[in-house]
Amino acid sequence: MFPREEYIRELEERKAQGLYINIRKIGSPQGAWLVVDGKEVLNLSSNNYLGFANHPRLVDAAKKGVEAYGAGPAAVRTIAGNQLPQEELEQRLAEFKEAEAAVLYQSGFTANLGTIPALVTEGDAIFSDELNHASIIDGARLSRAKIIRYPHLDMDALENLLKQERSNYKKAMIITDGVFSMDGDIAPLDKLVDLAEKYNCILYVDDAHGEGVLGDSGRGIVHMFGLQGRVDVEIGTLSKAFGVVGGYAAGSKLLAEVLKQKARPLLFSSAPTAADVYACLEAVKILQESDELVRKLWDNADYFKQNMKSLGFDIGHSQTPITPVMIGDELTAQTFSKKLFERNVFAQAISYPTVPKGKARMRVMISATHSKKDLDFALEQFAAVGKELGVI
Ligand SMILES: *Cc1c(COP(=O)(O)O)cnc(C)c1O
Repeated sequence: MFPREEYIRELEERKAQGLYINIRKIGSPQGAWLVVDGKEVLNLSSNNYLGFANHPRLVDAAKKGVEAYGAGPAAVRTIAGNQLPQEELEQRLAEFKEAEAAVLYQSGFTANLGTIPALVTEGDAIFSDELNHASIIDGARLSRAKIIRYPHLDMDALENLLKQERSNYKKAMIITDGVFSMDGDIAPLDKLVDLAEKYNCILYVDDAHGEGVLGDSGRGIVHMFGLQGRVDVEIGTLSKAFGVVGGYAAGSKLLAEVLKQKARPLLFSSAPTAADVYACLEAVKILQESDELVRKLWDNADYFKQNMKSLGFDIGHSQTPITPVMIGDELTAQTFSKKLFERNVFAQAISYPTVPKGKARMRVMISATHSKKDLDFALEQFAAVGKELGVI
């Protein structure tokens, strides 16, 4: 029997703590403005960094994909085969990341679920930043390797743990988000490479929020640090800056070969559709042609963050266009979001369990699609609600 009372109690508890999630109804394509619950609002909630989610060239490409290959792939790749555009996208992504090879997945989430357990297992160890994304945590658990968490970005603590623990395990992996999605800070990849080489560990970086954002033309964190060829596994998503849906792992040819034999989401779940793949190919092409959108993204982010600081907001330690606006209390953060929405601004409150308890925040996502006028409008509404709630 379905234990109704237990689940109902659990949901009530969430509501009482301000942790209950209300999923909004979106009635338009993603853009600087969008229709949410029937109302047109300024969009500060999406990962559509470059405006690709509704870019005319991507929309056109997706239509061509449907025409050429139909609506769906019809089975998993190891049974039905790779559609040719999937292979082409893997090559283009590898080129874009300046890696030898890439393997396509259905999402960034499944990229982590598939890749980590393909590389380490029982008897091995995973050294993992304590603020890593949920999909890394789940992938690490699925691998059955020993998980050793290190304090966020703390390289001295990591080295101490490596000194104490590394020799107790066969293989070992150091794993980190490139950009941390709730704080917008960046992993010190140069130091991580040194530690991985010194202590004989696989280095694994999830660059979901770095792609399209960091490095020349948005090639990501590895490119930004100039560490091509020295990072073993680079995970990417096609659902953030790329604006579509999908994920991938980039690295050596050997890595790709191992994943095609062992990664379970590749073996037991169908691939992205041709429409997705064509749209992603077009996104890579646009980024290779010009860095104009990436530069606009950074100009917008710098402008917004500078002005938020001047208004007196605490915007944490972000080094990227992700702008956390620290509130603390979960209920105040929820109220903040509600009041912004009344003022036609769509920005999410982020609470536990996505961030630790008592560290609730507004999370503002700046995009290249925003105009200066949009950003000024956002600043005005933030200032008004911030004063009303005593945050500034
Ligand atoms: C968003 C995100 C993912 C998941 O990507 P999807 O393509 O949406 O599944 C994985 N890792 C990190 C670090 C992310 O920020």
